[in-house]
Amino acid sequence: MTLSEHQQEFALHIGYLLQHINAAGYACTFGDAYRSPKAFGGMGEKGPYGRSKSAHKQRLAVDLNLFKDGRYLADTEDHKPIGEYWKALHPLNRWGGDFSNPDGNHYSRWYEGIA
Ligand SMILES: [Zn+2]
Repeated sequence: MTLSEHQQEFALHIGYLLQHINAAGYACTFGDAYRSPKAFGGMGEKGPYGRSKSAHKQRLAVDLNLFKDGRYLADTEDHKPIGEYWKALHPLNRWGGDFSNPDGNHYSRWYEGIA
């Protein structure tokens, strides 16, 4: 698959994820999605925050702010059931809650060693 094909499938899967979030009784808003090199530096360059090599720079990650009953759910563990659904959608999908430095609101697609 080309990078563009991964990006297209990632976007489609985010659509499925948003529908699942709603059906499971949650709501969400978008955090960061694409991180432009104009603001964050190119791949491998350190920007104002985030990793120097980031799936956000590949259009393969989105951070979702999760809510239930109007309450913001900030903890990684709060995202766990959503992360499990996300990973089941595709073998290359990654959830930030599994990272060595957990990042529970991060939903991404692994590509060329970056998730
Ligand atoms: Zn992220």
